[in-house]
Amino acid sequence: MNTQPADSKGEDSVECQQCGRTLAPHEERVLTEGGAFCQTCFSLLKDQLNAAASAQSQDINYSAALLGGLLGGAGGAVVWWGFTVLTGVAFGLVAIVIGFAVSRGISYFTGGKRALQLQVMSVAIAAASYFYASYLVTRSLILQQLAESGETIQLPLLPNPSDFVTIVSAGFRPFDLVFLAIVVWEAWRGLAPIKLDRTQGAAT
Ligand SMILES: [Zn+2]
Repeated sequence: MNTQPADSKGEDSVECQQCGRTLAPHEERVLTEGGAFCQTCFSLLKDQLNAAASAQSQDINYSAALLGGLLGGAGGAVVWWGFTVLTGVAFGLVAIVIGFAVSRGISYFTGGKRALQLQVMSVAIAAASYFYASYLVTRSLILQQLAESGETIQLPLLPNPSDFVTIVSAGFRPFDLVFLAIVVWEAWRGLAPIKLDRTQGAAT
């Protein structure tokens, strides 16, 4: 039991933080960092917290999550691509907006749900978006360079897999792994379920 004798202040009139009732000297109570609660209020609060904690990962609309993630990924990719076309520099730091946009897209389209499955989906979409955006960025830079030397080649927006790999590897520098890691981290962390500290006042 989590009942404790009145504390050492010699003051027995403790009020429940929830209902405001003064607890009798020998009445059972739960002491937390937030103050004392009567047993009834504490049980109710704990049930509410547990319900809220499980609700965040329940009834998830995965189609909506997928749509939100893809929209976010597309938006982030366009931002990075646009930045590159405007500046002529493949500034990898801008790419981290992709991870953030995918995570926010999923969160928005699921009404703020959080779950491991959503985190995995978010990371997958963000990584795919990153590589596709990386293709677009490198493609634009190649086309710009060729245009300056008067040449033209065909590089479709939707390439075949081997061209895709060739172009992406051509533009990939070791340091881009850092940006990719940040993209993945941003995609992951915003959808992590909020965990309750179950050790606190757990005994009833
Ligand atoms: Zn109470």
